[in-house]
Amino acid sequence: MTTDVRTVLQNLPVEIRGFTVLDENGDPTVVLNANHRRETNIETYLHELEHIKRNDFHRPEMADEIEAEAHFPASNIKERSI
Ligand SMILES: [Zn+2]
Repeated sequence: MTTDVRTVLQNLPVEIRGFTVLDENGDPTVVLNANHRRETNIETYLHELEHIKRNDFHRPEMADEIEAEAHFPASNIKERSI
């Protein structure tokens, strides 16, 4: 897994924190919202990094479920091996 994740700032609608895109090589770029505070963007970056580490982009589950799991890991009552 790559450890060098590119980050770009874009003017996004304020309700969007950010997202991750994969380039043609499958390497991730985290897109952060230039309209948000630096602290918010750091949080968003770490959140997106978690998706990248979990390889969420290649998992077959619905994006909604992946989001729920990523945002509320404590609510996941199933044991899971690391
Ligand atoms: Zn997410």
